[in-house]
Amino acid sequence: MSHVNLGILAHVDAGKTTLTERLLYEAGVIDELGSVDAGTTQTDSLALERQRGITIRSAVTSFSIADVHVNLIDTPGHPDFIAEVERVLSVLDGAVLVVSAVEGVQPQTRILMRALRRLHIPTLVFVNKIDRPGADDERVLAEISERLAPAVTPMGKPHALGTRGAGFAPFPSLNRAAEILAERDDRLLAALVDGDSRLDDAWVRRALAAQTRRGFVHPVFFGAAITGAGVAALAAGIAELLPASDGDPDGAVAATVFKIERGPAGEKIAYARMFSGTLRVRDRVHFGADREGKVTSIAAFESGPAVQRRSVSAGEVAKLSGLADIRIGDRIGETGGEGGAHEFPPPTLESVVAARDSSDGASLRVALAQLAEQDPLIDVRQDDALGEISVSLYGDVQREVIQATLANDYGLDVTFREATPLYVERPVAAGEALEVLHGESNPFNATLGLAVAPGSEGSGVDVSVCVDAYSIPLYVYKTREKFAGHMNDYVRRALREGLRGWPVTDCVVTLTTCAYSVPDGPPSRRGPLSTAADFRKLTPLVLVQALERAGTVVCEPTVRARLEVPSASIAALMPALGRLGAVVEASAPAGDLTVVETLLSAVRARDLQRRLPSLTGGEGVLESTFAGYQPVVGEQPTRNRS
Ligand code: GDP
Repeated sequence: MSHVNLGILAHVDAGKTTLTERLLYEAGVIDELGSVDAGTTQTDSLALERQRGITIRSAVTSFSIADVHVNLIDTPGHPDFIAEVERVLSVLDGAVLVVSAVEGVQPQTRILMRALRRLHIPTLVFVNKIDRPGADDERVLAEISERLAPAVTPMGKPHALGTRGAGFAPFPSLNRAAEILAERDDRLLAALVDGDSRLDDAWVRRALAAQTRRGFVHPVFFGAAITGAGVAALAAGIAELLPASDGDPDGAVAATVFKIERGPAGEKIAYARMFSGTLRVRDRVHFGADREGKVTSIAAFESGPAVQRRSVSAGEVAKLSGLADIRIGDRIGETGGEGGAHEFPPPTLESVVAARDSSDGASLRVALAQLAEQDPLIDVRQDDALGEISVSLYGDVQREVIQATLANDYGLDVTFREATPLYVERPVAAGEALEVLHGESNPFNATLGLAVAPGSEGSGVDVSVCVDAYSIPLYVYKTREKFAGHMNDYVRRALREGLRGWPVTDCVVTLTTCAYSVPDGPPSRRGPLSTAADFRKLTPLVLVQALERAGTVVCEPTVRARLEVPSASIAALMPALGRLGAVVEASAPAGDLTVVETLLSAVRARDLQRRLPSLTGGEGVLESTFAGYQPVVGEQPTRNRS
């Protein structure tokens, strides 16, 4: 049996929930169809209704189509928080993008399709709601090829559009697809040109499946999730056209964690997609750069909910218990973090979060610490002086997601203060500092010398250890590499807050001097044996002195915003961009839509995002990507050091 790990993506209201339910119903996973509207149910049994709801909204549901096993993986419905969406997309073999036959391609649909194409995820398009008055297959098909992807091919023709009896008839032959496919298939092109008699439907279908799997072409189906029309054809297309992910079950273990849930006792349950190998209960595995753990139980998806198993193999999705240090995005393997986890740009905003009920303060701290620990996209900072907690943010959508998670999973009602820019500090020159053993200003039992210098833009923090092996306290750290690893940690932790309280970046730090004390050493080094704590605590002290000598400048995050707006709204938009200090880099009208590229500060981009609906009659979309930091001129903003 082969596997497909599938995601369904859609603009809000296009019918993702209804389609999911219909696919599960037809596959026999749920026995009753409910209506997503007003929570109405067609069943008397509340338990059954709840069961259905849980199944439809769970992180993974599985079902079978013919002899293909499908794991339906829930993808977040927030195209504006694209980092979160992309993280889940990376574990998919294929996707179904739902478009409404009435509303057509929506701005958010374009953002989703762009992400799918960027990650080369094979994608089928399902044009839903053909039963609704105003449904127009030709218009939507044209829109799809103009606005979503040029290479699309309809798989059939809908009939009785706009009526309850609307249906979908698959084309008996796919001849008309041959031309599109021939653009990327020389043998097919030659056969087409020569009128080769061997060019039959089977050949075209094979070519279509091959090109769909490579993301070159997108087959388009039509139907109505609410009546079930066209859903069987779509299901057949999923089984036939989307790749079966049969990695090597005997190869080295490789899996990616795409979601973490908490069990009844707060323990972590990691959802992992297996790309290769076989994982067994009690296996010890590595994840991330230097973390490891033992799998204590495995539940795999077979048909419906997950079932307990002894092992899980390539192609499958499993819930793993026992990995206490695991984080979302981790690659699991026998040998550890090769391949490197997905790198995300830094968050650009931060906001103070507080529990509405002040007695929930402690629970909020625990909940946020848990979220931050398991999700690299969430970062929390505690301001002890003010007794406040801040969360770094990518934007309003992430704030809403965190708010909802705190409410649903932790029962916490929280408020966020207006977000402020998350500045960084960069050293402006080189600076060095040294604290020696027994020195007057040195409260710790160790010698450390650190040099700081500006790094190139976007280089982050680079730490190197340039001392002789004999000066390293190997009795604590065992090897030079382990010592370097710990120094790296100490330095990075210290650089989370620079001279003005902001994280320090684009910075090269070198350990130039190191010494420890020993009870029987020469007078200059005589004393109780230095401990790891001595080195750990001395690092920030020396580093701050080095930074003071180097000097730092506060820099503001900027983003490049790509706007797609109705051309008619340009006249109103341009002055608004000017007032926000945005630098317009390019503006290209394409029919009734205009694409504007602009560079502006991250906070201003957030303001623009909020004003966009009123500036563009609700039609504009904004996609922003991190564009580096710009030094703040004039007064330097500061933040409390915690
Ligand atoms: P989601 O937000 O993408 O999950 O969309 P839902 O599945 O919740 O559907 C949004 C609305 O569209 C609901 O009112 C559905 O009843 C309705 N809907 C979904 N599919 C169809 C369809 O095929 N035809 C019609 N007429 N309405 C549909």
